[in-house]
Amino acid sequence: MRLLPVLAATLMAFAAPQPARTVLHFGHLWDGAHVLNDVVVVVEGGRIATIQDGQRRAPADAVDLSRYTAIPGLIDLHTHVTYYWDRKPGTRPLGQRRRPAVTVFLAQDNARRTLETGVTTIRDLGASAETDYAMRDLVAMGAMIGPRMFVAGQGISAGRNWTPNPPALAEAVQERIKAGSDWIKVYASRGSFDSVDTTQTLTFDDMKAIVDAAHAQGRKVAIHSYGASGVKDAVRAGADSVEHGIELDDETIAEMVRRGTVWVPTIDHNRYYVDAKEEFGFRAEAIPPLQDYIAKNLESTKRAFKAGVKLGMGSDAVYSMFGQNTRELEWFVKAGMTPSQALATATTTAAELLGEETKLGHLAPGFTADIVAIEGKPLENIADVIGGVRWVMKDGIVVVGK
Ligand SMILES: [Zn+2]
Repeated sequence: MRLLPVLAATLMAFAAPQPARTVLHFGHLWDGAHVLNDVVVVVEGGRIATIQDGQRRAPADAVDLSRYTAIPGLIDLHTHVTYYWDRKPGTRPLGQRRRPAVTVFLAQDNARRTLETGVTTIRDLGASAETDYAMRDLVAMGAMIGPRMFVAGQGISAGRNWTPNPPALAEAVQERIKAGSDWIKVYASRGSFDSVDTTQTLTFDDMKAIVDAAHAQGRKVAIHSYGASGVKDAVRAGADSVEHGIELDDETIAEMVRRGTVWVPTIDHNRYYVDAKEEFGFRAEAIPPLQDYIAKNLESTKRAFKAGVKLGMGSDAVYSMFGQNTRELEWFVKAGMTPSQALATATTTAAELLGEETKLGHLAPGFTADIVAIEGKPLENIADVIGGVRWVMKDGIVVVGK
């Protein structure tokens, strides 16, 4: 029974024609750089046609969103949207097994929760059985409601008893691209869930072979590393983004600035694991190391931000974390950013990393009509971005609110 409304909504969206023209009236609008007041936005064919400020009186056909501030649709640079848990009593998020097609269908719930946070685009960094390719394609067809997806497929990692083998890894890159990956995801260290093991598992030469093979085919690379040595080697190997990481040294930070590497520290995901420890059944001993990792993660983020490293918002959301995708922004403010600098990590910087900077991350004529209406003062209080999403448009179609 619970799924019927979801199914109905999905089928309706698939059948519904795209509205030809929508007029929106906002009290304020942050376009990705500036704040405008009393703004009328005209959307046509899924794109922004015009933006005019100083419009106290809205056109008669406008949707009244004058209580809200519009911001660009947000981008979550690190998700695992196909990690789905049905919350059945007596079960845990890890360990539920089902057919891949069933997972794809059920994971719509994660997608919906993500949209409700104002996130209209995700970079999904790791899935099994090609479930992420399927979701990406269904969303792009309009057959499934969810954020637009850039996906990595199965991450590349060192197998058991791995010995360095750059040619084999370059081969793995080719396979991923052939299968349908937009991005290459690499696990260059241990560490995940309740483990904060920083042990590096791939060498610099391994990572370099992956990056070179991917770049030769126009694909970008995201490298996971929990520890400092792996982050350093990932940056030197030419990773486009580095995921997680603590205890970054000054040399690594300077190299990130020089190369324009985007760092996605995913501070909040360990906060989630601490909060969700009962659900996961984590041992009590796992909690202090998670807390310690959070503190070190934040400390490195402070230093990186001060030094001018490009930072990206990635939640690393799995299972019941969907719906909390933007809580990372609060950590960025704690690291010294203003709210607009924090928003840049999920708009302009993220769009540029995805190579979508002419379509996403800004509200301007010609850009995709991904617009989020926030109640409160998003540019003064980042908590309003996290808790104040009231209405979301994606590709010119309202996906949250009315
Ligand atoms: Zn991840």
